[in-house]
Amino acid sequence: MEHRRLVIIGSGAAGWTAALYAARAGLKPLVVAGIQPGGQLTITDDVENYPGFPDPIGGPELMARMEEQALRYGTEVAHDTVVRVDFDQYPYVLEGEEHQWKADSVIIATGAAARWLGVKGEEAFMGRGVSACATCDGHFYRGKEVAVVGGGNTAVEEALYLSNLCSKVHLIHRRDSLKAERILQDRLLGNPKIEVHWNRAVAEIAGTEGLQGGVTHVVLDRTDGDGPQEELRVDGVFAAIGHDPATAVFRGQVDLDDHGYVRVTPGTTRTGKKLLHAAGDVADPHWRQAVTAAGMGCMAALDIERTLAAETA
Ligand code: NDP
Repeated sequence: MEHRRLVIIGSGAAGWTAALYAARAGLKPLVVAGIQPGGQLTITDDVENYPGFPDPIGGPELMARMEEQALRYGTEVAHDTVVRVDFDQYPYVLEGEEHQWKADSVIIATGAAARWLGVKGEEAFMGRGVSACATCDGHFYRGKEVAVVGGGNTAVEEALYLSNLCSKVHLIHRRDSLKAERILQDRLLGNPKIEVHWNRAVAEIAGTEGLQGGVTHVVLDRTDGDGPQEELRVDGVFAAIGHDPATAVFRGQVDLDDHGYVRVTPGTTRTGKKLLHAAGDVADPHWRQAVTAAGMGCMAALDIERTLAAETA
């Protein structure tokens, strides 16, 4: 079994940034790239909020550049997926579908994925009217009318954010009360640009086909009875019904919160186990941005490098 100083699980913004710092520190990190190399950004068309790129850059290109930069300094990549870990023994043991490794240190950077509504039209209009990130895509809907689906903190925050850009925001929620914190609810309900559609579920996202096409309306079902379907004219739909962190393989091996995110000591990337860190969306239910993921990757690598250096001093 190959023995590595550092294995990074995941190849999104957190993983590549951790690899860049670790490689420059001489740790020869191995990145196990996983089933969606590049992570969530590879399904993002234009990234307009990553510092240093005043012109929009495609998500896949940004990730390719991060990879190239990490490789330049000696990062190695395994095109494999980790299917089992043993963090109860040290050095840690990682099993991929094809390889196995022992590791003195590990950074979990497996990310998270937005939950989608799973309704007709959603996939067809993905990136052309359907999004799961207002901070990323809200800008494209300046002065337009949009719908946000969900009733938790994310949905309310997305609706409030979009109300600063859009002419009108429709919050569509399947029940008659919100799950979001009181203070957020008060802001939402007091915002004249936001209309809440209680007891409604999106049945279909509809629009026009073709390159110039896009979403034109959503069809709503009533969830409180048998009333007729309704049509709501909107230019965009934001799914805000939660995220699923990619932590199934770590269950029982590292502390997870109630939503499945890796629990880290606030202000750090430490999981509580020696030289086992978590960085990026897998450990971040709040910010979930490429730049915050990259920042956490950097923190994890620097912390590990310093601990390893102190151990061998
Ligand atoms: P939540 O799980 O809290 O809320 C999801 C919402 O989406 C619920 O209202 C749920 O409805 C609704 N929903 C779920 N599935 C569907 C579906 N298929 N169709 C329609 N609606 C659906 O997720 P969040 O992303 O909002 O929050 C996750 C965690 O992150 C929470 O702990 C939250 O507090 C935290 N968070 C904190 C923030 C902050 O502190 N500022 C900001 C953002 C998130 P129902 O209510 O009926 O279950």
